[in-house]
Amino acid sequence: MLYFDNSATTKVKEEVLQEMLPYFSESYGNPSSSYSIGRTNKKAIEEARTKVANLIGAHPKEIYFTGSGSESDNTAIKGIAYANKEKGRHIITSKIEHPAVLESCKTLEKQGFKVTYLNVDSDGIVDLQQLRKSINKKTILISIMFANNEIGTIEPIKEIAKIAKANNIIFHSDCVQAVGNIEINVEQMGIDMLSLSGHKINGPKGIGALYVKQGIQFDRYIDGGHQEKNKRAGTENVAGIIGLGKATELAKDNLNEHKNHLKELREYYIEQVEKNIPNCKLNGARNNRLAGNANFSFENVDGNAILYDLDAKGICVSTGSACNSEEPNPSHVLTSIGLDQKWANGTIRVTFGDENTKEDVDYLIKNLKESIENIKAKNTGQNL
Ligand SMILES: *Cc1c(COP(=O)(O)O)cnc(C)c1O
Repeated sequence: MLYFDNSATTKVKEEVLQEMLPYFSESYGNPSSSYSIGRTNKKAIEEARTKVANLIGAHPKEIYFTGSGSESDNTAIKGIAYANKEKGRHIITSKIEHPAVLESCKTLEKQGFKVTYLNVDSDGIVDLQQLRKSINKKTILISIMFANNEIGTIEPIKEIAKIAKANNIIFHSDCVQAVGNIEINVEQMGIDMLSLSGHKINGPKGIGALYVKQGIQFDRYIDGGHQEKNKRAGTENVAGIIGLGKATELAKDNLNEHKNHLKELREYYIEQVEKNIPNCKLNGARNNRLAGNANFSFENVDGNAILYDLDAKGICVSTGSACNSEEPNPSHVLTSIGLDQKWANGTIRVTFGDENTKEDVDYLIKNLKESIENIKAKNTGQNL
């Protein structure tokens, strides 16, 4: 099998798995218990918290473990909205956010909050002019993703943070795709809140973290016990937290090597697609994009037909966002960058991982080219 869908999820690294395993068996103590097998687990959680903090230049006290990247986004957006509703009820986000952000905003709209969804240009970059104009006295939160999961575009985060700060507005960024792929320092970049997820960085599924800058008040999202400084009830997912800690440590140590390898594969893939497959179009910013992301549209070809063709040959790619794979319509991201139907329907996202090689890319190109030619030939046959 060849896996080219690392934006949907990644494989747990062997070192990560090994560190997690004891917490499913002998180290089963509840971290809230006072006897030794509880206390040692509490200590292990705090070590993992430090590792997560180190990856993004935060203080361990500013890290809250959650059940997923989606939960981190929900907690950030709803938590800030509810804690600041007396101050104002206006939120600014973009049209190309992950559903965890967009749907949180929609829920808030039903509760009387106003949300501005910023436009993006044809590369997927948010409109900063519109951002400046949208801010008013009631604006309490700006939430813009660092890098887009479908088209890979990296947003002007520092500028957005500056605008937020100048207007005394909290700035949250969904960094699920950026963490481990781009160097992030929350302090230098002016990010007040940040979401990340374990399974996008070769860690386990079902574990995420939210960074909240010290001093920022937010309402908790899960009620119950006192875990996570009273902000997220529920006995800790100890194995998941240990796995996320190890994954962030490895991500920090390997960042440059990882990034360079992915970028090399991406550049080679883009070059080969453009050389070998006619009527293709790269989506997202040409250079200002995630190292491992290449999102192409092929004119008048059904992307799902390509996906199933490649799947039959053991190749995994995506047509858009995995979250949208049941939807026959073009994704909200492709619509927002102004891609018309004849291109959008034939979109194939390839996202590389550490284990991919140049030979894998050659095999992918060969099969992708064949698949597109076969589908086109079939279409022509039907039209006769
Ligand atoms: C995957 C993803 C999420 C959701 O993370 P989960 O841990 O799968 O809930 C949120 N935002 C972005 C940009 C993502 O790519």
